[in-house]
Amino acid sequence: MYNVLVVGGGHAGVEAAHACWRMGLSCALVTLSKKTIGQMSCNPAIGGLGKSHLVKEIDAMGGIMPLATDMSGIQFRTLNTRKGPAVRALRAQCDREIYKKSIQKILKQTSIEILEGEVIDLMVEKGAVIGVEVENVGTVHAEKTILTTGTFLNGIMYSGKTKKYGGRVGEKPSIPLSERMYGMGLMMGRLKTGTPPRIKMSSLNLNVMDEQPGDLPTPFMSSLQKQHPHPKQLSCFITRTTQKTKKIIEKDLHLSAMYSGQIQGIGPRYCPSIEDKVEKFKNKETHQVFIEPEGINIDLVYPNGISSSLPVETQDRFVRTITGLEDSIITEYGYAVEYDFVDPRSLHQTLELKSLKSLYLAGQINGTTGYEEAAAQGLIAGINASLSIKKKTPFILDRSVAYIAVLISDLVSHGVTEPYRMFTSRAEHRLMLSQDTARQRLTHIANDLGLVNGEDFQNFQSLEQTYQNFAKKIKLQNITFGKESIKGETLLKRTDIETKEIKQAINIDKDRSGFLERLITECRYQGYIDKQQREIKNNIKNTKTKIPKNISYRDVIGLSNENIERLEKNQPANLGAAAMLEGITPASINLLRIFITKHKNAQKSRTS
Ligand code: FAD
Repeated sequence: MYNVLVVGGGHAGVEAAHACWRMGLSCALVTLSKKTIGQMSCNPAIGGLGKSHLVKEIDAMGGIMPLATDMSGIQFRTLNTRKGPAVRALRAQCDREIYKKSIQKILKQTSIEILEGEVIDLMVEKGAVIGVEVENVGTVHAEKTILTTGTFLNGIMYSGKTKKYGGRVGEKPSIPLSERMYGMGLMMGRLKTGTPPRIKMSSLNLNVMDEQPGDLPTPFMSSLQKQHPHPKQLSCFITRTTQKTKKIIEKDLHLSAMYSGQIQGIGPRYCPSIEDKVEKFKNKETHQVFIEPEGINIDLVYPNGISSSLPVETQDRFVRTITGLEDSIITEYGYAVEYDFVDPRSLHQTLELKSLKSLYLAGQINGTTGYEEAAAQGLIAGINASLSIKKKTPFILDRSVAYIAVLISDLVSHGVTEPYRMFTSRAEHRLMLSQDTARQRLTHIANDLGLVNGEDFQNFQSLEQTYQNFAKKIKLQNITFGKESIKGETLLKRTDIETKEIKQAINIDKDRSGFLERLITECRYQGYIDKQQREIKNNIKNTKTKIPKNISYRDVIGLSNENIERLEKNQPANLGAAAMLEGITPASINLLRIFITKHKNAQKSRTS
């Protein structure tokens, strides 16, 4: 009998189990294979746009994904450096093997019990789940159960006309559990995702590609930097498909599992297969391909951008038309996987099922895609399962506090019609949610929940205190800038002066450089953040604004095609109803509100 039982050792499962352990509960994790705990099913990379925000928040709450990323990261790059700090994002290319081993090592240092076997049934008593049946193991009882089965529920893999049952290459699917869940009358559907072929690094001509080294000094995903040094750093490379690639794919398109009508599930819009790109962007002759090493001692690359479910013979031919890939040795072919998911609208914000007590769902099973989205949900499910056992108030974050809250609230209120991935545009209060402020936003809360190691929290607090003292001193100080003497706070707010110049004028120690950068950002953005806080209040009022029937969504400047299609199809009566539609972000609601005001004013002036 455990407090919590986690089903699945993917990114959601390990984060959920570790959170329960940090909160002092007994926990077991059941997985199909111990060896694949922490496995990166697809791309060996963590972070990126919108996603690093989630990882930094997991870090601020004592989670493990950022630690394993630092332990295995072979290339770190900050994206969006020319844009504001709110949308900057850190991306880490990882060594696939080291990542997995790092997660397994972290789990070994806990009391989490690992069980190997397939969960084939859920045990229900008086409307609550009280444990699971594990094939060849028997019954395992727990007060709370968290399901994180990823792409395994009734998983089918496709390459051309070849169809195999499986959750991931070389692994069997989870069919009895899927049947059990359908049998319980849960709202479920099918989604799909795909992966590219893997190629031997030694068979590529890297000389004809653009090299992309990592940032220097190498950044860290976790704030506990010194405890987890990076391994050796490597470069990634960029190349392109050619007109020949396009021709081959166009000719064989009908053989792709997706286009031949074999797959019913909908795939991730933002991670399309190469055949999708060729079909949807007909006027584009070539497409970018990122050549990403799979690891330090692994002679393999992950060609990011050419995921495919075309027959293996077609993959063989089209891959060799890509610049630098002419002599490619393919070790594993690309495939698409189709799987069951549960409509996340069946869940409370705690990720507990509404219709069945003590059962929580997290990760890809809830219709998301991506390791980071899965880990974030695992953390929330783990925390809430633990709080429920401790008979404490559920943990529900507000959208203005964290991307994790944006993710959960989007899922449970809007549901999904395609695999959901995080973007900064989904967060209406993104200026307040920069990846750099995750610790200030969340570490205190996490500490109150018992999620953060005591010593780490003390270090964080003392660093914060040092920063506050530093900030106070600089803001009040008179600084000589050129011929002027300017008050620190006024100087820091000036956007016409480069950070470099401010640093020279203030002449601070090198180790305080990070503090100064943070202070400059805080001073410059304070006005915007105040404005955003006012907007939060206004938004509550705006939900009742009616949308005129004769409105043309196509005339709303800045609205994406995806949003236009959804609004035209659903014809919401007011802004509140529009905001409930999947994919309609609060930023889109703002655009609509401005448009409606203009539209009404124009009508008034016409009638008067
Ligand atoms: P997973 O990592 O899938 O882990 C599921 C775990 O559950 C496994 O440990 C498994 O053993 C266990 N399990 C399942 N059923 C049972 C059972 N009955 N009993 C016991 N244990 C069970 N994401 C992207 O962002 N971009 C992509 O391009 C992309 N492409 C992908 C391509 C493929 C082919 C696959 C398979 C996945 C892809 N993903 C992609 C998705 C990414 O892998 C997932 O988002 C992420 O791994 C989800 O994490 P998870 O913890 O929910 O599930």
